[in-house]
Amino acid sequence: MIIIKSPQEIELMRQAGKIVAATLKEIESAIKPGVTTGQLDKLAERCIRKFKAKPAFLGYHGFPASICASLNDEVVHGIPGLRCLKNGDIISIDVGVFYKGYCGDAAVTFPVGEVSSQARRLIDATKESLYAGINKAVPGNNLYDISNAIQNYAESLGFSVVRNYVGHGIGSDMHEEPQVPNFGLPGKGSLLEPGMVLAIEPMVNEGSWEVETLNDDWTVVTRDRSLSAHFEHTVAILQDGPEILTSF
Ligand code: MG
Repeated sequence: MIIIKSPQEIELMRQAGKIVAATLKEIESAIKPGVTTGQLDKLAERCIRKFKAKPAFLGYHGFPASICASLNDEVVHGIPGLRCLKNGDIISIDVGVFYKGYCGDAAVTFPVGEVSSQARRLIDATKESLYAGINKAVPGNNLYDISNAIQNYAESLGFSVVRNYVGHGIGSDMHEEPQVPNFGLPGKGSLLEPGMVLAIEPMVNEGSWEVETLNDDWTVVTRDRSLSAHFEHTVAILQDGPEILTSF
């Protein structure tokens, strides 16, 4: 069942979303060659707690950190640690928080220093595919109108969308119904209604869409080890259209 949120609940999710956005901004300003992913994690945790919020990923199914930090061919769920960012890397940072009983969830892929033009193209395509999807998050559309817009945009530029991981409804739980795939046929899936809140999150690969999980049981990488990018926003569907709750 898709839970419809009241205006009061959406206001709390707006506040949670602002904390996610502020945390991503702090991380963005700290990203440079030589910084470790573990340092970014500590910075994020301090920022989240400063707002009296809780890192939603810490301890989630045993995840050991406050953010996911996925480098280059890593798609999602990279564990922060001792690895240093290098010039030319791309790094996907996923942040989730709990605030006053509600969640916010967003992800951004950042370039580290100077990246290749292909890496830049992949980042831009993934971000734009997210906005193509968000534009379809209006009452009266079907869920897979969002999915289809994302897929069409990414594939029109020669990239592929990951099949095994998808977006999700979000509210008092981090993952609620429905699943929000980044591929699908327009006109299919649940009818979108005001009060639905979705975490829309395209994961776009430079090569094939196939992925596999490393031996740490968390880190998801592209099977062909091509680059991958990830952008996500928490989006409320309102009467007059989508509102991005994690905008920054
Ligand atoms: Mg998410």
